[in-house]
Amino acid sequence: MSTQKTALISGITGQDGSYLAHNLIAQGYRVFGAVRRASTLNLARLAALDLVEKVELRTLDMQDFASMMRLVEEVAPDEIYNLSGQSSPQASFQQPLYTGQTVGLGILRLMEAVKLVNPAIRIFEAASSEIFGLGSKHPICEKQDFHPRSPYGVAKLFAYWSVVNYREAHGLHASNGIMFSHESPLRGMEFVTRKITTSLAQLACGGQQMLTLGNLDNARDWGFAGDYVEAMRLMLQQNRADDYVIASGRTHSVREFVTLAGQAIGLEIEFEGEGLETRGFDKKTGRQLIATSADFYRPSEPDPLVGDATKARQKLNWRPKLSFEELVVMMAESDLERARNGQVWY
Ligand code: NAP
Repeated sequence: MSTQKTALISGITGQDGSYLAHNLIAQGYRVFGAVRRASTLNLARLAALDLVEKVELRTLDMQDFASMMRLVEEVAPDEIYNLSGQSSPQASFQQPLYTGQTVGLGILRLMEAVKLVNPAIRIFEAASSEIFGLGSKHPICEKQDFHPRSPYGVAKLFAYWSVVNYREAHGLHASNGIMFSHESPLRGMEFVTRKITTSLAQLACGGQQMLTLGNLDNARDWGFAGDYVEAMRLMLQQNRADDYVIASGRTHSVREFVTLAGQAIGLEIEFEGEGLETRGFDKKTGRQLIATSADFYRPSEPDPLVGDATKARQKLNWRPKLSFEELVVMMAESDLERARNGQVWY
């Protein structure tokens, strides 16, 4: 009998899905990926990690329960990793209902399918630090009160409690990874870190489009996606399912991210002014590179979020390997190379 494990990843075309597929294949897994039907399939991230031929793709929309049941039956996975859904807190203010449908109800449908098809299947849910948001004591551990500040955070909180409930009520091996922000050269372009590294790379190559940002003093706990997917896998190897904060334990401001990313590609950026009047200049040429705009402020912002991953360190033996500084340099250099080669962005 084969001892090879089978995993099903929903959202395999995303940042985390691609890194997780890479991690699981290296561990000897057979990996199925669920992708939503689209006129053009977004395989750029899987291609960047040389995975297109190594994973088996199936179509699935997180809003369609019947196809979910069929997929779980057909693939018969040992483990399911739910990484799919509308993943931007900022965009969730424009698409609150769709966010609730995919992020909140998506995992509920998936767990119901598992309960009916094979309750022994282990499940990972990509929960988010955005379930905390306001008034938490820092650093934030698993026991903090919740107060989400976006439709995305609210939907993630519903998903979080659904996982806890299916574990307690139906005995499913279902775990929440409460993940703080994690980034990489494969991060979506709509997220601030990747927006910074792609824009600065274009400016460094002579582009004219200024980088316009929201609140430069916003601070986040940023880690590397490649490290965070390892925590996901470890959670499903435990005898008991549980919930874990996954974080670096340090916060940095958007301003620091911009400064470091600029330095990594030869731009020395100096800031002048305050609040919405802040502007950033290239110290060598005096050219303005950065502006700020209220358009990029969210209607309600979470407090600065910094996580305490002590439980993951003690129980999973997990700790992040890449530092913030290494992460920023990696992203900035990768986008500079793409800009120089005129590569398509994703
Ligand atoms: P991502 O790059 O935006 O990937 C999201 C994935 O979900 C994509 O594969 C996307 O498919 C898919 N998807 C979106 N709507 C769908 C639908 N209706 N049906 C099926 N698939 C759908 O996000 P990520 O950064 O990898 O994050 C992975 C998960 O972790 C998400 O649930 C996110 O909310 C959560 N999370 C992320 C972070 C972070 O900092 N990255 C932090 C906490 C939690 P397409 O390729 O077709 O768009």
